Amino acid sequence: MMLRKFSTAAAILAYRINVDAFSTSPSRSALALARRWLSLQSTTDNNLEGSLVSQTLEKMESDEEFQEISRRIQRIGADGMTREERFKRRRALTELGVPNFMQFVTEKNVDDTADGAIQNMQLYRSQPTILQLNIGLYCNQACSHCHVESSPLRKKETMSSEIAALCLKLLHNSPDVDTLDLTGGAPELNEQFRFLVSLARQWSIENKRQLTIIDRCNLTVLLEPDQTDLVDFLKEHQVKVVASLPCYGKDNVDAQRGRGVFDRSIAALLKLNAAGYGTPEHPELELDLVYNPSGPFLPPSQETLSLAYKRELMKDFGIQFNNLLTITNMPIKRFADYLAKQGKMKDYMELLVNNYNSQTVKGLMCRNTVSVGWDGAIYDCDFNQQLGMQIVGEIHSSEIMSTTKQKLSVFDIQSLTDLQKHSIRTDNHCFGCTAGSGSSCQGATA
Ligand code: SF4
Ligand code: SF4
Repeated sequence: MMLRKFSTAAAILAYRINVDAFSTSPSRSALALARRWLSLQSTTDNNLEGSLVSQTLEKMESDEEFQEISRRIQRIGADGMTREERFKRRRALTELGVPNFMQFVTEKNVDDTADGAIQNMQLYRSQPTILQLNIGLYCNQACSHCHVESSPLRKKETMSSEIAALCLKLLHNSPDVDTLDLTGGAPELNEQFRFLVSLARQWSIENKRQLTIIDRCNLTVLLEPDQTDLVDFLKEHQVKVVASLPCYGKDNVDAQRGRGVFDRSIAALLKLNAAGYGTPEHPELELDLVYNPSGPFLPPSQETLSLAYKRELMKDFGIQFNNLLTITNMPIKRFADYLAKQGKMKDYMELLVNNYNSQTVKGLMCRNTVSVGWDGAIYDCDFNQQLGMQIVGEIHSSEIMSTTKQKLSVFDIQSLTDLQKHSIRTDNHCFGCTAGSGSSCQGATA
């Protein structure tokens, strides 16, 4: 086992030495990197070879919390769990004397029109510029805070080629959209991932459209045995990588994301850097990292934490990246379960409410992003998607000459501009986006 571990380390090290031969910075010398990498290897009992899937499944089988959640899903269904969860947040807010989210926001923003975002106690979008596709819930990990409850067991929830093609049509018909944001699960493990990326990039070149394609990457996927060519694929199509790394320390990452995830994440970052990602020599290959708190507290300042990440990752591993994005834990799904179990739901909601920041409303991600689920259903954001809060709109049928209100999917609209007239569906989980410096898939918003 030791020999196999060493061979992966040696391969990655060879990459680094290659890159470092051209580096003038003594702190990133190949020798220093070799020492750091080898010391990482000698302090870990993790095998970097093979898939993480079996390890994750083993953990899920022995983890009492996961077992309890699946028993409850069998008993009351996912919708029942969502209702229960919503009730717990509502009860916490009632105890705190806090009204519903939009009433609260309207009262607090009375002097600040938030750029037209608030009208008649409703929240409205500006022109959508980001099309975010959650292409499936399958993941090689099963993180304790995961708001989409992904795991290797979520094999059924996966986007079909028909839906993927309709999403590309939406992109084509929406002239203001400049970003295609692919998320999951681990989106790269979905059959449609490479299809979507290749066609979207080809389309953007042929139509001379500026298009940022984002891969929301968990990093460990880059070490999956059937993904050895993934970095090359991402580089070839100039995909921006936005990668989760909730800490620069091993213990915190492994506690939140599973044993061995930190070592694999570091190996993956070295691989990305070796390909040019996150380096000043390749500004077109962007690599951003994402931090989320390990418990019921707000993220620290994005700027300050970014400096600490840059310093520590460079010092320990010679790793470079572009930006750090900080994200607040939403009080939904696995994190809501954790809060309820610890008796901390009220405290957490109080923290979010007390730190409400009216400056965040203008930049809420639901105002410039539209989120599409693996089945084509359309939502205001990925959180609403996980809570089943689909956008409801009016559909006119010329056949029966009538207009009906219904939940919208990619089958019902031609362009994201069609959604402009519909207000955003908000609820008590939205306090997670307006606390402190604000939170979104693009990091802090204020
Ligand atoms: S890697 Fe991301 S999608 Fe997968 S379980 Fe963890 S948080 Fe969820
Ligand atoms: S959760 Fe956040 S992004 Fe989603 S609708 Fe609420 S405020 Fe908007």
